[in-house]
Amino acid sequence: MITGGAGGIGKVSAKRFLEEGAKVVLVDLFQESLDQTKAELDKLGEVITIQADVSQEEDVKNYVDKTVERFGKIDVFFNNAGIEGKVAPITEQKVEDLDKVLAVNVRGVFLGLKHVLAVMKEQGYGSVINTSSVAGLSGSPNVTPYIASKHAVVGLTKATAVEVAPYKVRVNSIHPSPVNTRMMRSLEEGFAPGQAEAAKADMEKSIPLGRYGESEDISNLVLFLASDESSFITGVQYRVDGGMGAL
Ligand code: NAD
Repeated sequence: MITGGAGGIGKVSAKRFLEEGAKVVLVDLFQESLDQTKAELDKLGEVITIQADVSQEEDVKNYVDKTVERFGKIDVFFNNAGIEGKVAPITEQKVEDLDKVLAVNVRGVFLGLKHVLAVMKEQGYGSVINTSSVAGLSGSPNVTPYIASKHAVVGLTKATAVEVAPYKVRVNSIHPSPVNTRMMRSLEEGFAPGQAEAAKADMEKSIPLGRYGESEDISNLVLFLASDESSFITGVQYRVDGGMGAL
């Protein structure tokens, strides 16, 4: 089950899971994007789509219940939906700007954990991968709400990993540097209005491997954390960042 499943990282991860023989549930805010994504992936295996706003508890309960009704279990939960929020100094961020980002990136991740972990505890197994960011491990200017929200994902990951470990359920977080998706294009435009290309070139220079990540780079890590190959790993923050963490 993948939230933000119609977005850049979510869709490519869904493709990788299908290639490995999984049945996939895509959850996203926009039914039209879900339909498009399903049409692209359908030939690879079973794909179910569920429209939901991850910040609303009724919606979250619904996507979890529907998945359990259909498959009887949830093996893997990629808790991945997120928004970037406003790009501006903190002095120009409104309380509403903060609340909007926290609603999706923190409340949405919290609610997903709350309802999915109830199922996984009962099963006695499961793997959850929460999407944070390098922005969940260090600061950078002009995106304070986003940075705060992604740090909160670390807390949610560590707290729940310890709590559900006795049930053989694992919870880890992933921390990508910039990845070539809609979100990054929106952020570039926010950092340098009308000069997104230059903003991108600057950011690429700050990554030791010299490029943005691709969604495939991220999905390879997600797949590892979902699989039994990572069965002794829980509560960990995984960077997938082209070397940024070594600077
Ligand atoms: P994206 O914008 O392509 O995908 C995000 C998806 O989440 C979209 O399909 C969107 O419709 C969905 N979504 C947004 N709000 C929602 C809501 N309330 N309910 C349900 N779905 C909702 O961006 P992406 O890059 O694929 O982002 C996926 C995750 O990766 C996000 O959590 C993001 O913060 C994180 N991330 C992205 C980057 C990057 O550079 N792209 C870097 C680090 C972390």
